[in-house]
Parts: sequence; C-alpha cells; structure tokens
Amino acid sequence: MENRKIIEVRNLVKNYGSFEAVKGISFEVYEGEIFGLLGPNGAGKSTTLEIIETLREKSGGEVYVNGYDLDKDKDKIKRIIGVQLQASGFYPGLKLSELIELFSGLYNEPVDPHTLLKLVKLEDKTKNKFKELSGGQKQRFSIATTLINKPKIIFLDEPTTGLDPQARRNLWDLVKDIRCKGTTVIITTHYMDEAELLCDRVAIMDEGKIIALASPDDLIDHLVAQGFERPKEVKQANLEDVFINLTGHALRDE
Ligand code: ADP
Ligand code: MG
Repeated sequence: MENRKIIEVRNLVKNYGSFEAVKGISFEVYEGEIFGLLGPNGAGKSTTLEIIETLREKSGGEVYVNGYDLDKDKDKIKRIIGVQLQASGFYPGLKLSELIELFSGLYNEPVDPHTLLKLVKLEDKTKNKFKELSGGQKQRFSIATTLINKPKIIFLDEPTTGLDPQARRNLWDLVKDIRCKGTTVIITTHYMDEAELLCDRVAIMDEGKIIALASPDDLIDHLVAQGFERPKEVKQANLEDVFINLTGHALRDE
C-alpha cells in the first residue's frame, strides 16, 4: 500500500456550547486505504467526519485533505470528496435514473445512470423510485451517488446500521470494490466484526478521544500479547453462519 497521507487531522476539537464532543484528536489516513472510525454512540465519529467533509465548523485544530487546508480551501476539498447523504436527502418519488441526473447536474459531471447503477448492482432498478427500494438497496444507491463526481475519497457514516447480514456483506463487497478502483474510504461503524473484516486501519474513539489506532490485526495481537485469552469457543460456527449458509450470500431484494 502507498503511504501518501491523503487526510491529516491535528488536535481537532469540537465543542457544542460547553460540551466537548471531540477533544483534540489527531490521525492520518493514507491514500487507497479503508480507514475506520469505531466507537459507541456519542463517541464523536459523525462530528469528526462532518468536519472533514466541510459540513460542520470545527472549534480548534487543523485538517488537511489531499494537501488542502480546511481553513482556506473548502471548495477544493468539496470537489475531491464524495459524501453519503442520509436516505432523507433523496426525493422519494423520483426514479433512480432521475435522481442520478439531478446529482449529475448539481456536480456538473456527466454520468450514465445505467453504468453507475450497474456498479452497485442496481441496474434492474433504473426505473424504480427511491422509496421502492429495500434498506440495503437504498444504501447501495446512496453510495453510488457519492461516486458521481469521481472523488478521491468517500465518507460513509454507518452505512450498514440496520441492515440484515446479507445486505451487510453485500455492502462490504461494494466498499472493497470501490477501494480496489483506487478510492480512499473512511467509514464509521459500531460493528467490530465489520471493522475487522473491512478496514486496513481503525481508530477507536470513545468520549471524544482516540484511544487506539492501528490495524485490526495489530490491535488484536497487542491484546493477546498482554495475556488476554478469549473464553474457548465451543462451537465452530454461530447462528449467523447458519443463516448465511441456508439463505446464501447472493444479491436479492434485501
Ligand atoms: P457518534 O457519531 O459517534 O455517535 P456524534 O458525533 O454524533 O457521535 O456526537 C458526539 C456527541 O456530540 C454526542 O454526545 C452528541 O449528543 C453531541 N452532539 C452531536 N451533534 C450535536 C449538536 N448539533 N449539538 C449539540 N450536541 C451535539
Ligand atoms: Mg454518528
């Protein structure tokens, strides 16, 4: 993996009134990696993401994206990032092809709806309305819209929350695909299995601080080296394995 820093965050602080939501965190994201921000609800993940995305003002610290200073070059940053909208950001009554044309116009970036939808395996849904999609399909569609302006980095804020196991796995495949094409991915999640499978490196956040930052493997090795032992697994599979084994991993109307 290349080690060019594409995001640098230095002593980032965010206060909401007298409440310190982000307490001076620092981290770097390398070009081409899948970087995870993990942590429980309220840890400050979304706040951090939205500041880097230029959607929220910071209270202190420095942020550089692709070398652009957030304080000076917001517009340049906006042009090279893809941000996932919440489902409520889409007109529910428009067809997917119409929504893509709308975004294409907003970004002033010509895009063929069919090609884009094929990328997220929704080519059969071109004429469907957004509100007709299932949860997993809505997430895949919203990820597709982050790709319209051919960004260097995409930001995904808990893209798999609320999805069933198949839909989650399909989304992981999609995120890996996107990364394989050279796009850097920052993702937040509170699912540790997801982070372990998907992320090259993770920052674990709690109460506005980063309490660990490394690859999932290194974090686990470090814990084991301290003498940690997991209670012996009695079974070689769990109920989720049974479910996936019975129902398959194939794409369907999830
Ligand atoms: P996470 O995404 O990790 O769940 P958030 O960044 O959404 O965490 O929130 C971090 C903390 O900041 C939480 O305690 C939350 O209640 C608080 N917070 C988030 N947004 C606001 C806001 N606009 N005004 C006041 N407090 C907020
Ligand atoms: Mg959040």
